[in-house]
Amino acid sequence: MSTPKSPPECLRCGACCLRGGPALHLEDLPLIAAGTLTRAHLVTLRAGEPAFDNVAQVMTTLHSELVKVAWNPHEPGVQPGANAFACRFYAPEGSACLIHETRPAECRALYCQDTAAIEALYARDRLTRAHIVDTRGSLWEVVSFHEESFPAATTTALARAAAHGDRIAARELEALTEAERRFREAFAARTALPQQELDFYFGRSLAQLCIPFAVKAPK
Ligand code: SF4
Repeated sequence: MSTPKSPPECLRCGACCLRGGPALHLEDLPLIAAGTLTRAHLVTLRAGEPAFDNVAQVMTTLHSELVKVAWNPHEPGVQPGANAFACRFYAPEGSACLIHETRPAECRALYCQDTAAIEALYARDRLTRAHIVDTRGSLWEVVSFHEESFPAATTTALARAAAHGDRIAARELEALTEAERRFREAFAARTALPQQELDFYFGRSLAQLCIPFAVKAPK
């Protein structure tokens, strides 16, 4: 008779937490309702953005948006160092999760020795901003305006073209990123919301989206 297989046990090495926070799923909504996860803890990755697929271990383009636990906040003007994308709840001392008892679904499902559970969950019932923000309110109108005016897909397409020397694309990109910067600045001034909440409502700034393309400003 064969011995029953023991369930895999997380070694709590922190390797997955250092790669980034989890994307959220419908079953994580109670964590938001309870305040374990606030909007300042989250970042939206919008449709059309390049993103790393942790299960397939490849860069991909997002076909629909997702909301995830953000990385560690950086001081304005300070370059992020090593582990720049580590989950904001990861404490390197002791490789600990600061919300271990109430960690999101992906973290509970992820065992690097047996990835079946995370693979089954990964693309299912992902949370979007529409699950979190009241879609009948004025804040949602602003979110929708931003999405229509500053689409991530247009930005990355322009950045790709600009990176290949297309000067017209580079000029369009410069105008778009500047307009978006002014939009965020005006919104922050009017609402006094912290920068981290803006990254939930509007995703990362267009300037941040351009960083991997190393686009130079047109002369
Ligand atoms: S929430 Fe906790 S377990 Fe999940 S990635 Fe962050 S630190 Fe790791």
